[in-house]
Formats: sequence, C-alpha cells, structure tokens
Amino acid sequence: MTFRPSIKRAATRVVAAVAALACAFSLAGCGEDEAGKIRIGIKFDQPGLGFKKSGTYVGFDVDVAKYIAKELGYSEDEIIWKEAPSKQREAMIQNGDVDMILATYSITDERKKAVSFAGPYFVAGQDLLVRDDDHSINGPEDLDGKRLCSVTGSTSAKTVKEKFASEVQLMEQPGYAECATALFSGIVDAVTTDDIILAGLASASRGKLRVVGKPFTQEYYGVGIKKGDVRLAARINAAIEDMIQDGAWQRAIEDNTKGTSYQPNAKYNPPEPTEGEA
Ligand code: GLU
Repeated sequence: MTFRPSIKRAATRVVAAVAALACAFSLAGCGEDEAGKIRIGIKFDQPGLGFKKSGTYVGFDVDVAKYIAKELGYSEDEIIWKEAPSKQREAMIQNGDVDMILATYSITDERKKAVSFAGPYFVAGQDLLVRDDDHSINGPEDLDGKRLCSVTGSTSAKTVKEKFASEVQLMEQPGYAECATALFSGIVDAVTTDDIILAGLASASRGKLRVVGKPFTQEYYGVGIKKGDVRLAARINAAIEDMIQDGAWQRAIEDNTKGTSYQPNAKYNPPEPTEGEA
C-alpha cells in the first residue's frame, strides 16, 4: 500500500516533530546524525590539549584522537566531538554518550571501577601555576596557608585533599579556565593540575601566569572506553604505538606546546600503551 502524498507529508511532519521532541528531552545532544560516526569526548577549554576554536578543535588530545579514529576507520569528518568536563567523564562513557574519551584523563584504579582505559599515550605531572610576580610559591612545600584552585572530579583536587588538606584552602571549579580567572583576580594564590595543562594556560596568559615546574605526581593519560572492552583497548593501543613509531606523536607534542617552555618528562615519555588489553 502506498500513502497518498498529503498523508505522507503529514506523517513526515509527525516523525520530525517526535524527533525534535526526543531531541529536546535528550541529554545526549542532538542535531547531528550520529550514524556511522565515532563520538569522542575531549576538553573544549584547555589550550594545547583540547580546545574549541571558532568551530574547530585543536590540541594534543585532538591529534591523538584523530590518529586513533583514522586507524579505526573513521575520517576526520566522521568524528563527533563532545565536551567531556573532568567531573562528567565516567558518566558519559557509562551512559554511552561517547565511544571514547581523550581529555587529559588519568588512568586510576578508582576510575577503573566504572570505565576501562587504553593507553597511556602521555605522562604528565601535577604542578602549580602562579602569578608571574608572586615568588612565594616555589614548590608544593610552600603551600602552607595558600588558597588553591582546581577542578571538581580531577585527580588534582583529590591529591590536594589527600596531601595538603590541613594547610591549604581549596576552591573547586568546573574547568581550569575558571581557575585561571580566579588566579588573575587574586581570589586564589595558585592553580594546580597537570603541568602540560598549566603550560597552555600560562602561554595563553601572555606572561602574566607562570608554571612553578616542580611536578609532584605522575598522571598517565588514558583513553577512556566502556568497561571491559578489551578488543577496543587493543586496537587503540596499536594505533598509539603506530603514532609513536612513525613520528606523529613527537610532531603533535611539538606543534601543540610551541611557544611554551614545556618539555615532556623524558623519563616517562613516550609511554608504552599496554593498558586494558585483558
Ligand atoms: N589528569 C588529571 C585528571 O584526570 C587532571 C586533569 C583533568 O582534570 O582533566 O583528573
């Protein structure tokens, strides 16, 4: 049986209206057809790592993500980028909002209860960012009585609570850009998170902010994936290995840290990606 054109048009309108409604009530975000595409969570506000710049996405995490996507069979225009703030990463993977997350996401045992990781593809270290003219903080030993800012749901905030709880005041924000603003305006004395993130913020501040340069943790950046997907982890690890072998990893680091004085810690980088394979 075939519909008469007017009925067909009406039916099409109903379908569109239902889709729009589903869209309005969906947490997944809509408007883009996700069929045949890969959805990757990144940061949108971390210069040099994951940064949204007039509708395009740039940074080291973005370059690694594109390389992995390509080896999995997805071209750049088959990637849907989604913002993955620190606090929301596990839930985004568990809810199936994204297929993978590359968002300065440290591999930890606690997170591994909820998600799995491939990687690592980089090793950073937690450090401190201060105002350029403030010489009172030269390392974690100088934090007594200081006000720090970090991000909710990060290992950085957790480390402060575990190691420096008695001596510092910690302010938590949804992102590191908000922390940098608080540091500019004097609401806090330092921002703390991974050195490579702080290097990007210092560079964006045009000399007003400076990284102290005394890292006090190791942060192994993993690719967050659905818990237990050992086959995907193995494919991602193979892609990371290829990226390191063919020189693209080194180029991506250099391109994305240009204009900063940041050097990856050669003791840990490039790392061996063996996580998550069973
Ligand atoms: N790498 C740390 C973490 O996964 C800090 C950076 C971030 O919040 O993304 O928590």
